[in-house]
Amino acid sequence: MKFCSLTSGSKGNCSLIISEQSKILVDCGINLNTLEKFLAEENISAYKIDAIFVTHEHNDHIFGLDAFCKKYRPRVFVHKKGFLELAKKLYWTNHLLTPFEEDFRFKDLSVSTFVCSHDSSYCVGYRFDDGKNAVAQITDIGEVDNKIVNFCKNCRLVLLESNHDEFMLSNGDYPYLLKKRIAGRFGHLSNEKAAQTAVKFCSCGVRRLLLGHLSQNNNTPETAFFTACNELEKNGLQEGKDIKINVVKQFEKSEVFEVE
Ligand SMILES: [Zn+2]
Ligand SMILES: [Zn+2]
Repeated sequence: MKFCSLTSGSKGNCSLIISEQSKILVDCGINLNTLEKFLAEENISAYKIDAIFVTHEHNDHIFGLDAFCKKYRPRVFVHKKGFLELAKKLYWTNHLLTPFEEDFRFKDLSVSTFVCSHDSSYCVGYRFDDGKNAVAQITDIGEVDNKIVNFCKNCRLVLLESNHDEFMLSNGDYPYLLKKRIAGRFGHLSNEKAAQTAVKFCSCGVRRLLLGHLSQNNNTPETAFFTACNELEKNGLQEGKDIKINVVKQFEKSEVFEVE
């Protein structure tokens, strides 16, 4: 499989996953022109995108969905519990929406979902397994426990939210209520919590961790990266040896990671 983050952050999210038989996107928070350009750079016709898997209805995950679906008509999967709120925000996409409830198979991929603690109607992370390898993407999650480790077990690559530095958020100039929302149970995952999860991932078969959905105001790629590296070191682990870590960015397409 291959995994590429086309854009990741509070201003938009879209990932591309390629298996032998499928080309899919997770979320479509990216404008049409940019998406078409990024796909062309990978020699993929936008008509060949088989499906888009939506995590939840927040704008940064769907603002490009209608434009893309109007033109290219892929299938769009969304969890049944997030379906209504998503449909209210869309027009051209609605007849393409396929709500699901249980884990299911799409072409050569087994698709499973993880419920995220987040202030949307319903928010899921995804795991895609092609029988040889698996990848997972989990963002927009206020808190994590060991369930996430089980869900990501043996995923060679995981994209995990590392939204904000706790100190930068609490000392920044966001209004009190917004700070409370972001840092709360139904908000976004801090660097510190992502770093603790990185430690746990080392012993469950995750080889590469992509830190994503970074805040533009309360984080920097360096802060996210070094917080994770420090936490690994504290636990006798080493970035590059026990797990590889990359930060995926808002205004830069990531490299295409070969998952093997
Ligand atoms: Zn969200
Ligand atoms: Zn988001």
